[in-house]
Amino acid sequence: MQNTSIHPKLAHLSSEQVNTLIKDYYAKKKVTDLIQRFNIDCLPFQLYKLLPPEVSSEFCPNCDAVMVLPRIPQSAHQNKYKQGLYCLQCKHQEYGICTCAYCREANKKQQKSIKIAYHSHCQITHNHIKATDLTLEQAVSLLSLVRCYGTAKIKKDMIIQPSKISTIPFAPKSSYTDDLLSRLSEARLLKITDQSNPKAISLLNNKVAVSFSAQLSLSDTVLSELIRNIETSITETNWPTPWYEQVSELAFAECREFYDFCAGERMFPSVDEKIVTAMLRNLLEDFSTGQCLRIIYSGAQYAADFMVKKTATPSQAASYMVGVCQRWADKARAENWVVTAFRRNFNCPRSMLSYVLYDFVLKTDEEGLQIPIAIVQLPI
Ligand SMILES: [Zn+2]
Ligand SMILES: [Zn+2]
Repeated sequence: MQNTSIHPKLAHLSSEQVNTLIKDYYAKKKVTDLIQRFNIDCLPFQLYKLLPPEVSSEFCPNCDAVMVLPRIPQSAHQNKYKQGLYCLQCKHQEYGICTCAYCREANKKQQKSIKIAYHSHCQITHNHIKATDLTLEQAVSLLSLVRCYGTAKIKKDMIIQPSKISTIPFAPKSSYTDDLLSRLSEARLLKITDQSNPKAISLLNNKVAVSFSAQLSLSDTVLSELIRNIETSITETNWPTPWYEQVSELAFAECREFYDFCAGERMFPSVDEKIVTAMLRNLLEDFSTGQCLRIIYSGAQYAADFMVKKTATPSQAASYMVGVCQRWADKARAENWVVTAFRRNFNCPRSMLSYVLYDFVLKTDEEGLQIPIAIVQLPI
């Protein structure tokens, strides 16, 4: 084998002896015997660290040198072993976070292009935003953010940390929150205050994407005035027209979160996103959010029973859950069943978005969950 570097404590051995040592070590020969036989000055658990790394068949993408694998203890499992692949020459590491000069440079370039995209996106500012300039989602989100993290008076640069645990979660968990935060940043209602955190922002199809771990603050255009303006538009039932159509998107997010929660609780793997979305949209046409939650909850229970009784796999049960929700809804429609609305359980509490939407905007309180969103009595 090609020995790339020899530890000083093995320097007295010939390369042939080193090869024998490696072979015997991984043949699980007793380490204390090996140490004695090869006259090595180390403790038994240190021996593998002295062995020269194993030369792999892969080449470094940076400097083209052959990459190597670190030695592992003779008793260790082999699965994680490949993850240690690195380049002896430039220290590039194939897996995990690499800090070699090559990757640092590539990272810097990426951060630079993100910053350029972010700044050009921030330069377009509009002053004096009014409630009518916002979508319902934006208005509800801003109110929820202020209620979750802020005070009555909006301070400049008020920091919002969605990842910080608040008694009432800001938005439904799931990718909806990241998407929502990205949309709010895209609309320049939020700004990112820690652009140095590489996980906070990324570029996705040339759009700035914000992650849950980002530190955000309200943009300078969001002032107490705007929040008051949104609140009066709502309390005086003076809704901008597009809001009426946008109500259903928020109801959908609510159901989607609950679906994922119920499936996740039973360790069902995820199924095709499109199928679940189509089923939930179909349900929401005729059932209230609360009724949809009831159907989802029962669907999950049926699927769990199905798994036990039919000794099905979790992935079969996951597909069964989508189907059984749809069949349940179809039957309820055909036979005019009274579907009791569901109250959120404590394990999956309502989000602040949900409180603001149902209790404040729609003024339907608990009942809001009981009327189909499509025919909910919208304030006129
Ligand atoms: Zn290299
Ligand atoms: Zn690297």
